[in-house]
Amino acid sequence: MRNDVLDIAKRRGFFWQAFEIYGGLGGFYDYGPLGTALKENIIAAWRKHFVIKEGLAEIDSPNLTPREVFEASGHLDEFADFLTKCTRCGAVFRVDELTGATPGDVESARTMLREGGAKCSECGGELSDPVEFNLMFRTYAGAGMEREVYLRPETAQGIFVNFLNYYRYFREKLPFGVAQVGKGFRNEISPRKGLLRQREFNMAEIEVFLDPDEKVWGDFRDVEDEVLTLLTRGGEEHTLTAREALERGIVCAEPLLYFMARTKRFLVDLGIDEEKIRFRQHPEEELAHYSSDCWDCEVRISYGWIEVVGIADRTAFDLSRHMEHSGVDLRAFRRYSAPVKRKVRKIVPNMKTLGPMFRNRAAEVAAALERADPSSVDPSGRIAVKVENELIVVPPEGFTVEEMEEEVTGERIVPHVIEPSFGIDRILYALMEHAYYTRPDSGYRVLRFRPSIAPIKAAVLPLMAKDGLDNVAMEIHTLLRNAGIRCYYDDSGSIGRRYARADEIGVPFAVTVDYQTLEDGTVTVRERDSTEQVRVRKEELPAILKGLVEETLCFGDVKGV
Ligand code: AMP
Repeated sequence: MRNDVLDIAKRRGFFWQAFEIYGGLGGFYDYGPLGTALKENIIAAWRKHFVIKEGLAEIDSPNLTPREVFEASGHLDEFADFLTKCTRCGAVFRVDELTGATPGDVESARTMLREGGAKCSECGGELSDPVEFNLMFRTYAGAGMEREVYLRPETAQGIFVNFLNYYRYFREKLPFGVAQVGKGFRNEISPRKGLLRQREFNMAEIEVFLDPDEKVWGDFRDVEDEVLTLLTRGGEEHTLTAREALERGIVCAEPLLYFMARTKRFLVDLGIDEEKIRFRQHPEEELAHYSSDCWDCEVRISYGWIEVVGIADRTAFDLSRHMEHSGVDLRAFRRYSAPVKRKVRKIVPNMKTLGPMFRNRAAEVAAALERADPSSVDPSGRIAVKVENELIVVPPEGFTVEEMEEEVTGERIVPHVIEPSFGIDRILYALMEHAYYTRPDSGYRVLRFRPSIAPIKAAVLPLMAKDGLDNVAMEIHTLLRNAGIRCYYDDSGSIGRRYARADEIGVPFAVTVDYQTLEDGTVTVRERDSTEQVRVRKEELPAILKGLVEETLCFGDVKGV
């Protein structure tokens, strides 16, 4: 089956290995015309399901990112896999792929390899000691190549570094969510699984910013009945509703569970087989350096259970780190329901002594003292304050520290982040496998794409390429394209052969022009999976097909003449 899907993918224009005429480049793929259209339709469905329905703000940030960002985010130190090489044939492997478990450090990677007795899966040779290998691609920007930059391994950092802009955009209120569709780049060690493990791939990510004391998003009642299969860190498997999973504490953070349920619905609506979806909780050692809990949404395909979406609780990790590294305050303001009175210690400048001491700068020194934190008064009673970038030491007689009552309206907090991260290529590939079947009678191959997801919506076919049938079919083809329906005209070979060609790439409807069309202006519309046909007036065709493609009309409800 996998070979059939890959054969259709390549021969019919979904995807293929990139740069083939130069021998190809591992981990890089081209999407052809049908693959590109399919990918765009998946992304459009994702936008509808998440960006629009959840009220997210979709943004677009650069692929190239300066080193400082990944220093702060921890990717420079931590975003690595462990690599081992065959000492005989030179084949390279990821340790976790050979051993089936993720090592925490080089030492444990070595122990796992040696204790498991792993050998090269290509030639049976001995494997080298493992080394840590950072997955980011590095290059340089600027005429003097003076800035070290990296291709982003995830789109998320482009959102975190702009937190303040989005906070302002959402009128300084939590919670809010920001989304981004774009490329991610990872120099994967051994990309052997086609679209599933590429070095440049398509991601769709959501970062939801929440008040850590009120971790809620959306209306849980919308998802509470969704049935989920959950594989916990402890090795238990549960199939239960989202509500039960919440009440039994199997998934602790409500917004995490909310997005898991919404993710399942999204995949099922796309056409992924409901029976082949599960969520697997990351064991401690598999958690990324930034996350406290993570559930992978996995889909079963010919390669086994494959992660297609990662749903992680990133806590305050990223914003805190960017705050530390940039020195910019990336906190949100949590307003209390009513102001509270609080005793505070404050520095009160003593103008009588500051005046003669600092003369024309006295006012600035006083202002700096008012802003200063009383805990930074040193043991000898002096305090250093910054005035126009100069450090000025003020002696004890320049100020007093007083306790006073203040009305506080709120406090600053670092928001927590829930991140659902979708791998578009993996979803696309899984969808192709799940959509694939062969007709029991003829053995012909079919891709059962939903009309809204199918790359091409209709084939326009004259029964014969003669007697004017071809001209009428071409007119209809133009009419449909003018109505915004992606379709093609095909008059070569028998009609059966042409239906089969359309079925193989998942075209949901075929419009056939026959001799009756010349008499009464009607055409037949054939539905791919049932192969049923209905005869309609050709003027009504654009509206009918539009309804069918947008799925506001079902084929069974199309009224024939
Ligand atoms: P992660 O940040 O590792 O959880 O990745 C998010 C999603 O991107 C995963 O769920 C995958 O679907 C997808 N993904 C990650 N790495 C690759 C890759 N090398 N090739 C294709 N898709 C990937």
